[in-house]
Amino acid sequence: MLSSPTRILSLSLITLALATTGCGGTEMEMEDVAPQASSEETATVESAACTDHCDNCVLFARCRAPNLPYGLTYWSDKVAVINSNHAHVGCVAMIPTSHAYGHAAFVADVDTAPNPNRITLREANWTPNACTSRTGTKDSLNIRNYWCPAGVHTAKCAGPM
Ligand SMILES: [Zn+2]
Repeated sequence: MLSSPTRILSLSLITLALATTGCGGTEMEMEDVAPQASSEETATVESAACTDHCDNCVLFARCRAPNLPYGLTYWSDKVAVINSNHAHVGCVAMIPTSHAYGHAAFVADVDTAPNPNRITLREANWTPNACTSRTGTKDSLNIRNYWCPAGVHTAKCAGPM
């Protein structure tokens, strides 16, 4: 017969595993709330890589794009902040998935010269608990659309991509 401490440990490990599945998982994603004042004023070169957020797509994207709105737990929340039909470096791509959370990915590069246009995403937890990159077209990456920070658009905006 199992002792109580063993059972408790097992349940804790299961809970931990569940909490880290999907984009940000359930418990981590729930922490997507505005921080207390002054908690984000410690940016360093090292933190710019944002590798301490590789388990949460939203927290990673906001680390790279600090003005990304808060409260982006669910896919419906992510869709609600879409404000651009094309990408610029510094925007965040919103990507539907089989999860209710969907996915958010930082736009790290946009190649407007060749056809088709190619977008490079830098993202967390697309591969579980890892920071990775993907490059492709808007369609091949299944990008619904983008949230872009103020000021990225120019007179040369190329239209949907
Ligand atoms: Zn633009």
